Amino acid sequence: MHPCLSCGACCSAYRVAFHWLESADCDNGVPVHLTEPLDRHRLVMRGTRSMPGRCTALDANIGRRARCTIYERRPSVCRDVSAAWENGRPSPQCERARIAHGLVPLTPNDWPWPRRAVSDAQLLDALEPPPGGRSWPPEHGAMGTDCVR
Ligand code: SF4
Repeated sequence: MHPCLSCGACCSAYRVAFHWLESADCDNGVPVHLTEPLDRHRLVMRGTRSMPGRCTALDANIGRRARCTIYERRPSVCRDVSAAWENGRPSPQCERARIAHGLVPLTPNDWPWPRRAVSDAQLLDALEPPPGGRSWPPEHGAMGTDCVR
């Protein structure tokens, strides 16, 4: 299982602020009712204005199970935080959040499947083709990398 699906620490460790333009309800923006104003140009996810806090969009038992209920519409700041070692690199934000919640930081050993260093095409070649062939690009989550970030 993807480590983020049993974590949720970063969604309850930082203020999640972004430009208001990302919240437009058209074009799959962040749902406005889940945000509140931070300053003249920025919004913040409800629940994260001050810490300790927790994003209102997070459905989780931290350290056991976690999912972002607006995954496809989450703000850019959420998309920018990578899980430590998912792409072969450490992630200070991931590590600090996990430690703050009493979780052990992730290591390269938490990523047993082929890493992103392997191209998507190579990864697809390694997989059995589905009945009826394969379309490109794969549907969301088709390669087992679906996560909360
Ligand atoms: S990924 Fe989702 S649950 Fe986590 S902070 Fe962002 S909007 Fe909230």
